[in-house]
Amino acid sequence: MPDDKNLNLSPKSADRIAKTTCYMCACRCGINVHIKGDEIRYIEGNRDHPVNNGVLCAKGSAGIMQHLSPARLNAPLKRVGKRGEGKFEKISWEEAMEMASSWLKPIRETDPRKLAFFTGRDQSQALTGWWAQQFGTPNFAAHGGFCSVNMAAAGIYTIGGAFWEFGSPDWQNTELFLLFGVAEDHDSNPIKIGLGKLKDRGIRTVSINPVQTGYSAVADDWIGITPGTDGLFILSLIHVLMKTGQIDLDYLIRYTNAPWLVIRRPGSADDGLFLRDENGQPQVLDHKTGKPISAETAGIRPQLKGEIALPNGGVAVPAFMLMAEDWLNDEHSPEASEAKTGIPAERVYALAGAIAEAAFKREVVIDQPWVDWKGEHHDKMIGRPVAMHAMRGISAHSNGFQTCRALHILQILIGSVETPGGFRFKPPYPKPAHIHPRPAGKPDQVKPSTPLPGAPLGYPMSPDDLLVDDQGQPVRIDKAYSWDAPLSAHGLMHMVISNAYAGDPYPVDVLFMYMANMAWNSSMNTRGVIDMLTETDPETGEYRIPKIIYSDAYSSEMVAYADLILPDTTYLERHDCISLLDRPICEPDCVADAIRWPVVEPDRDVRGFQSTLLDLGARLGLPGMVDADGKPLYSDYADYMTNHQRKPGIGPLAGFRGQSGKDKGRGDPNPDQIDAYIANGGFWSEELPENARYFKMANQHYQDFAVKMGFFDKPEPYCFQIYSEVLQKFQLAAQGHGKNQPPQHLRERIKACFTPLPQWYAPFEGDMVDSDTYPIHALTQRPMAMYHSWGSQNPWLRQIHGHNPLFIPSGLARSLQVQDGDWVWVSSHHGKIKVPVAVMEGVNPHTVWTWNAIGKRRGAWQLDPDAPEARKGFLLNHLIHELLPMRGDGLRWSNSDPITGQAAWFDLKVNITKADHEDNASTEPAFPILGTPPDLEKPASVLRYGDSIIARDKKENNQ
Ligand code: SF4
Repeated sequence: MPDDKNLNLSPKSADRIAKTTCYMCACRCGINVHIKGDEIRYIEGNRDHPVNNGVLCAKGSAGIMQHLSPARLNAPLKRVGKRGEGKFEKISWEEAMEMASSWLKPIRETDPRKLAFFTGRDQSQALTGWWAQQFGTPNFAAHGGFCSVNMAAAGIYTIGGAFWEFGSPDWQNTELFLLFGVAEDHDSNPIKIGLGKLKDRGIRTVSINPVQTGYSAVADDWIGITPGTDGLFILSLIHVLMKTGQIDLDYLIRYTNAPWLVIRRPGSADDGLFLRDENGQPQVLDHKTGKPISAETAGIRPQLKGEIALPNGGVAVPAFMLMAEDWLNDEHSPEASEAKTGIPAERVYALAGAIAEAAFKREVVIDQPWVDWKGEHHDKMIGRPVAMHAMRGISAHSNGFQTCRALHILQILIGSVETPGGFRFKPPYPKPAHIHPRPAGKPDQVKPSTPLPGAPLGYPMSPDDLLVDDQGQPVRIDKAYSWDAPLSAHGLMHMVISNAYAGDPYPVDVLFMYMANMAWNSSMNTRGVIDMLTETDPETGEYRIPKIIYSDAYSSEMVAYADLILPDTTYLERHDCISLLDRPICEPDCVADAIRWPVVEPDRDVRGFQSTLLDLGARLGLPGMVDADGKPLYSDYADYMTNHQRKPGIGPLAGFRGQSGKDKGRGDPNPDQIDAYIANGGFWSEELPENARYFKMANQHYQDFAVKMGFFDKPEPYCFQIYSEVLQKFQLAAQGHGKNQPPQHLRERIKACFTPLPQWYAPFEGDMVDSDTYPIHALTQRPMAMYHSWGSQNPWLRQIHGHNPLFIPSGLARSLQVQDGDWVWVSSHHGKIKVPVAVMEGVNPHTVWTWNAIGKRRGAWQLDPDAPEARKGFLLNHLIHELLPMRGDGLRWSNSDPITGQAAWFDLKVNITKADHEDNASTEPAFPILGTPPDLEKPASVLRYGDSIIARDKKENNQ
């Protein structure tokens, strides 16, 4: 434990050090904030913290300037001009809360669906989802639908967890590391620390990414794949590994559903489902008897090949035979894929060879006995040391769910999930789809003044779990969990405003959003969304979306379009809970959670959003937020963090529970819990027993530990789902089976996309537009130095990325006769933008890209209207529509993955032409300057930080 006395700080620079959690990105590193008086002087990494071990990135240390941002909102605001004018009047919190509750109360008492409550990249979904549930609206989700739900959902449905917050490469033991579609922002410090460990050990890293920046630039091999073809590439690796026998059959038999018997009775309602016994247990073929037996029977050796005749006709075969039939087909060969992926077949063979060599010639053996859930004893933990990590690049396509599934299956086939050297789950994962709840919000569950019977988000297991009415029409405003996107585990935030505007499936009365910059970089079709937010009904004169409540800490573009602003604090002025009920900070070998707490008090009339939400809930009398007399149960979020129990003994924080503060996981509330966290450095962690650290899905020691900690109420061992019966059930519905069937116009799409073994299909937009007219793929990445739109108001970080050029490959630059600093027009089926270019070599020859969310609207974020972010920065969003081009039947589908509804940002196809030379050119489209909320601070005129500049700026602002 580092001794603060050894930090060698001069007494002049700080008089206290407060340990809390960074929020400059979503990694949640531990930080030590050095404070003098009431001023934050310096931020460093917390060396004891399980996430970052003291490492701090540029964003983290620039948190000071985020905290001092002149764009911070300073009081509740009521709109007094028209939407978009940015004219507001400051009001008291009492008036603001009364206004909000007067809008929401009648909705709850009549039709709770009329509230659409959506949040952005906040970290309190365990609270916000529960609040929506208690309100009774099904219309809730966070930002996952436009981020990486394909990655999360494919992981949960296939292996019971996903990358990043749910799992991690085994950095200590891996012998080969593959990165698919990873930009620099997600899992930032942990990946950098991990890559450093690999470099130290001389381990080869391979990046598959159309763009060679960041992690790709330091990889040993870069494979510059064509966007949207990762699924083809992965299936060709699977093809080669299966064909050459480089797969782990013992692992497949023990830990996956590869031996489970699948019914083959084409045309029947059970075709493609698992053969089950009378108790619903899946069947396998016993090697000794050749007869079906429950897959859960201890001591059996199931067959991967074979066939049995079924009494009612048809046969049943192990799923492995379907895998072989499918993936050994020549259509999956590297030669068949190379024209589309842009990757020569020999590179696929070479990579497959490297994977096989690392997995099977360099297996890792840990001398640690363990017992599996069937009671079988194992002397050692044996692993296949190939680790992988993936992120939005392979996810944000209309074929992303199946691509992500294919990637998990590649890991499974070589036996590298949850084994030494491979991919490891972070508790409370693994947690397969079937033990997650189903989504609540069926038509008979949405009632006036009544909570939903469960959380609005969940994991459907069949068409019976969809949220549709008797006619099959969507229940939710974003059409999540309907036939449009059946497994939309994170909702479809990118469809909320356009559906609410169109009143499809119904109009809403209040749109309530938090930290979601939907009037700018968080929306597709930005100009269209602005129009939707401002258009009025010609008859009533009322806005089409009548009331908008918005909470943000900063004067973002969205503020100008809201009617009521509830100003949030900065992350250093608030309580927060990084909870095991939500997206915790665990590592594979330890359970951990963390808090934020007000290391300085706000100097403005602002409140942490979560406290505001609890206050609002109490004013509305929501169950769980008021006592029997209708009085608020929680004074603020800190009170909730301490005393709320989701079920007896389980609360938002797992550490320091019970009256003694010594209980872990389960225990009574402890009134001193937050103080205990603060004293412990802002976090709590508990090591896993040595024998519970690998094979968690099947490891009895881990399962017992998980029950003890409260992750489950009973052991929940399971097998990985290579063959997805869930998808097959939707497939059968599209074929006309079952009581819940899709509408006619979606049947062919469901048949094509809901394959129980992942298949590749072409991304929708690229397939629908003319490839001669729009021949170029266009992508965004987040820069390492910024996260979402927050960074481009931060004077230290702005020096790194003041604007974003369009990076174009050198071959394209030559053909267009452009060079660095020239301007081009970029057009799509939806729009046209004018932008500056930079030429680079390390990019797929048919792809252009830019940094996301640096372009700003003039007048927002307290930037100078002539700031480079506004003059030369731009968004690709103007080129992307939330709907695909019209089809032959006159319908326009959502620009999303058809399985999960993930926004297909990266399907964009464009055309590029050179713009005429113009001095002092500005990006187009240009928008009018936004009005500024009253009394924001003036931006600092210089970037220097210290006593004098703080004092001077404060003085100036007080004048
Ligand atoms: S990686 Fe993210 S959480 Fe960690 S220090 Fe950097 S900005 Fe903060």
